[in-house]
Amino acid sequence: MIIVMRKGASKDELAEVKKRIKELGYKPHVIHGETRNVVGAVGDERGKTVLQALESMPGVENVVPILKPYKLASKEVKPEPTAVEIVPGLTIGGDNLVVMAGPCSVESEEQILETAQAVKAAGATVLRGGAYKPRTSPYSFQGMEEDGLKLLALAREATGLPIVTEVVNPRDVELVAKYADIMQVGARNVQNFALLKMLGRLDKPILLKRGMATTIQEYLMSAEYILAEGNRRVILCERGIRTFETATRNTLDISAIPVLREQTHLPILIDPSHATGHAALVPSMCYASVAAGCDGLIVEVHPHPETAASDGPQSLRPAEFAAMMSKLAEFAKVAGKKL
Ligand code: PEP
Ligand code: MN
Repeated sequence: MIIVMRKGASKDELAEVKKRIKELGYKPHVIHGETRNVVGAVGDERGKTVLQALESMPGVENVVPILKPYKLASKEVKPEPTAVEIVPGLTIGGDNLVVMAGPCSVESEEQILETAQAVKAAGATVLRGGAYKPRTSPYSFQGMEEDGLKLLALAREATGLPIVTEVVNPRDVELVAKYADIMQVGARNVQNFALLKMLGRLDKPILLKRGMATTIQEYLMSAEYILAEGNRRVILCERGIRTFETATRNTLDISAIPVLREQTHLPILIDPSHATGHAALVPSMCYASVAAGCDGLIVEVHPHPETAASDGPQSLRPAEFAAMMSKLAEFAKVAGKKL
C-alpha cells in the first residue's frame, strides 16, 4: 500500500503515520517527493487492507494499493527518477550520463593503473575491474581476490575515480565493501536472494545486472530485495539476454530501456561489452543505448586485449574507447544528457 501524504503535511504527522504502519506489522519506507511525501507500507500482502484505515489520520490524503508485485522499485511509489549518489558530487540518474570503464579483471598494478589513467583521460568517471570473477569454467582465472581489491584502491588513489567491482559470494560482502564504491552483482547472481538481502543492508550503491534469462518483472523483483532491506541506491544494468542468436555473445535488449523507464524510477545502465562479446560491436551499441535513453554505460577496456585474462575479445583498447567517447558526446546531447 502507498500512503500519500497531503501537500504540506507536518513532520509529526508523517512520524505518526510511520509509527502506525509499524504497529500494524508493516515496514514504512518514506519517499520524499518534490511536492509531497509518500510512505510505502511493505509487508504481508494478505492483511494489507488494515492499512486502509490510515486514510483518516491527520496529514494523509489517501491510501492506495500498489498494483505491481515490486513496490519500492515501482513508479507507483515514486514517479520521479531517482538519482543515485555514487560518491559526493557524482550521481547517476536524471540528467547525467555516467560512463564506467575498465578491464574485465584486475590483473596487475601496471594494467589497472594504465587503464584507469586512460579511461579517465577519455572522460569515464568510474573505474570498473573484477577481483572476484564468476567464470563458467572452474579452470579459468578466478580473479586476484583481495590483492585485486587493493590494486583497485591504488588506482582510485592515483586517479580519483571511484570503483565498481563485483561481489560473487555473500561471505565476501564485508571485505569487498571495504574497498568498493559500488558493489556489482553479476548476471549469474541476480536471483541470489541471500546476497541481495545482505547488500540491502549496506550503505553503498549496488549495480545490479540483469540475468541472462531474467524477465523484466523478475529483475525488478530482485531490485526489490535490496530496496526492501533499506538500501535505496540501486542501479540497474542490462547486459544482454540469451537468445537463439550466436553471432553475438548475448542479445542486447535495448527495448529494456524504455520498458524499465515506464516501470521504475531507478537509473538504467547498459553493458554493451558482455551483451555483444565483440569489441567492434561495442561503440554502436553505446550510441544506440544513449539514444534510447539510458543513464550510463559500463564498458570493458584493456590496454592489451590480446593478453587479457578474461573477456579480451570484447574489450576496447584505450584509443578505441577514447574515439567512442568523443562520438558519444553528440548522442548524449541529443538525448538531453550531460556527459
Ligand atoms: C563482468 O562485469 O565482468 C561480468 C562478469 O558481467 P556479467 O555478470 O554481466 O556477465
Ligand atoms: Mn567481463
